[in-house]
Amino acid sequence: MKPSDFIHPEDEAALRQMEAIPGFPQLVKKILAVGIEQMVYGVNMASSIRLSEKQLPDIYRHLPPICEKLGIPEPEFYLQIDPNPNAWTSGDTRIWITVTSGLVEMMSDEELDAIIAHECGHILCRHVLYHTLAQWMSQGLSLDGLLDKLTIPAKFALLYWQRKSELSADRVSAFVTSPQTVAQVMARLSGGSQRITKDINLQEWALQAEKYNEIRNENAWNKTLQLAVTASLSHPFAAVRVSEILKWGDSQQYRTLAARQEAISQNVCPNCNRHIEPTWKYCKHCGYCLI
Ligand SMILES: [Zn+2]
Ligand SMILES: [Zn+2]
Repeated sequence: MKPSDFIHPEDEAALRQMEAIPGFPQLVKKILAVGIEQMVYGVNMASSIRLSEKQLPDIYRHLPPICEKLGIPEPEFYLQIDPNPNAWTSGDTRIWITVTSGLVEMMSDEELDAIIAHECGHILCRHVLYHTLAQWMSQGLSLDGLLDKLTIPAKFALLYWQRKSELSADRVSAFVTSPQTVAQVMARLSGGSQRITKDINLQEWALQAEKYNEIRNENAWNKTLQLAVTASLSHPFAAVRVSEILKWGDSQQYRTLAARQEAISQNVCPNCNRHIEPTWKYCKHCGYCLI
């Protein structure tokens, strides 16, 4: 799969804006040169449990089929013992996904798939480097004063882009599971217990995002106030994500991707409709890329 199958237009625009900030790309290079990745990787190695066929295989086994479906190399996969439900992806030269025990406990198998697919979506869409930077920034790391050199507009641009990038990763997650499942996960993450969240009307919830947009767009001052509220958030509001993913689920782009995947799973080339073998990376009849 290609990033362009999933990148949300607002993600693309925000990335362009951020990278256009004078000095931004050079500063990122300097930050990486400090070797901080190795430090954070070491801390993670010491404080989390690395999942594998030999270590908690029931959790580990969620990951490989998702990577295969997306055609990405398998990242390292860790469990952190923490009752708070959370998941994140870090790194640059090597990439690892961490989920918390609170998350695993809370989610059904399909919901856990959706969350791991969302994290893999950040890898596929090449978000991880800047995400890692945003994580370090929010943890208050200074990196020898290098992170302090990020100007206030650059910091807000990074967070703004991060929020938009979540919409792209949600699309990847919807492709691997379904738009409904992604919306359901939002409900689980913001509402907690399944007893209540299973009855949430997702369409009605999505309408709240439309209402929110109306309020925000009523006048310039409302827009400014809403911007002040959201500027330091790392994720968009849950209702906005639900609305965006249900809309994408109705789009031609999603239908085409889903039909392509359905054909491949039936061993049929989506391009020439002839029989293909599951091991093929390209259709041997027409050359169509199957991964
Ligand atoms: Zn994310
Ligand atoms: Zn073909």
